[in-house]
Amino acid sequence: MYDVIIIGGGPAGLTAGLYTSRARLKSLLIEKGFTGGQVMTTEWIENYPGFEEGIGGAELSRKMETQAVKFGLEIVQGSVIEIAVVGGIRKVTLEDGTRYDTKSIILATGSNPRPLKIEGEDEYRGRGVSYCATCDGAFFKDETLAVIGGGDSAVEEGLFLTKFAKTVYIVHRRDSLRAAKVVQERAFANPKIKFVWDSVPEKIEGNESGVTTLHIKNVKTGEQSRLDVGGIFIYVGYNPNIEFLKGLVELNENNYIVADENMSSSVPGIFVAGDVRAKPLKQIATAVGDGAVAAVAAEKYIEEKF
Ligand code: NAP
Repeated sequence: MYDVIIIGGGPAGLTAGLYTSRARLKSLLIEKGFTGGQVMTTEWIENYPGFEEGIGGAELSRKMETQAVKFGLEIVQGSVIEIAVVGGIRKVTLEDGTRYDTKSIILATGSNPRPLKIEGEDEYRGRGVSYCATCDGAFFKDETLAVIGGGDSAVEEGLFLTKFAKTVYIVHRRDSLRAAKVVQERAFANPKIKFVWDSVPEKIEGNESGVTTLHIKNVKTGEQSRLDVGGIFIYVGYNPNIEFLKGLVELNENNYIVADENMSSSVPGIFVAGDVRAKPLKQIATAVGDGAVAAVAAEKYIEEKF
C-alpha cells in the first residue's frame, strides 16, 4: 500500500514526488513515457528561476528526477487505464494489468499536442509533420519550414528551428501573436522568420520523401495560396490527458480538471497538479508550485483519514 501515487512525471509530478518523499510518505510515480513531460521536448528554457543563462529542457528534467529519487521517490513506467475508489482505498490499474493500492493520488498527467485535423496531417506525421522541434528539428537542415500557431510554443520553437532551416514561416490565424513580448521581439528581429498573418492551414501534400506543400487560406480575404515547405511543425495548443479518468473527477468545459486552492479535485484524496489542472497560467514555475501544494495537501489528508 502506497501513501501517494503520482500519475505523470513532468515538473508537477516530480515536484510532488520530491515533497511527498521528503515527508517520508511511501511514494510511487507512474510515467507512461519519459520523465520530464513537455519540458523534456523543449530545447531551451529561460524563464525558470535560478538558471540565469537558461537551461536545456532535458537537463532540467534530469535534475528534477534525480533530486526526487534521492529522497526516495520510486518511479515506474506504465500507462494507467483506471482508477477506482473502494472504501478509503484508491486502486490504480495499469495497461499491463499491474494494480497498486494507495491512500491518495496526485494527477499530474499534463497535456498532449493538439492536432490540426487537416487533410494530410496524419499521412505525413513523422514524414515532415512534427509536434516537436527539439526532437525533429535537426532533420531539416537548410529546408524551408512552416510553424503553425502564434503562442509561446510556436514562436519559441520557430526561433529554435532557424538554427537548422533556411526559412521558417510562422503561419498564424490572426495578425498579432499570443507569445510573450520578449519572444516576439526576437522573432521579429530574426531574418530567417517570415510571418504569414491571418492564415489557416487547409491541406498538407507531399510525395514519397515527405512533405512538399502546405495549402493555406487567408481568413480575411478568403484567398488560397501554397507554401513550398519540407516540414511543418504544429503548435496550436494542447489537450489535457484525462481519458483514463472516465468521468471520475469534475472537469471544466475544456476538459481540464477542476481543483480548489489545495489542489484537491472533486473526489477526496485525489489531488491535481500541473497542466492538466484548470488554471490561467501553464508554466514550469506554476507546475512545480501545484506539485508542492498537492503533496502537502495529500500529506494532511492521509494524517486526517488514516
Ligand atoms: P497556446 O498558448 O494555446 O497557443 C496556441 C496557438 O495556436 C494560438 O496562437 C492559437 O491562435 C493557435 N491556434 C489554436 N488552434 C488553432 C487552429 N485550429 N488553427 C490555427 N491556429 C490555431 O499554446 P502553446 O503556445 O502551446 O502554449 C501552451 C501553454 O504553455 C501556454 O500557457 C503558454 O504560455 C505555455 N508555454 C510557455 C512557454 C514559456 O513560458 N517559455 C513556452 C511554451 C508554452 P490564437 O492566438 O488566435 O488563439
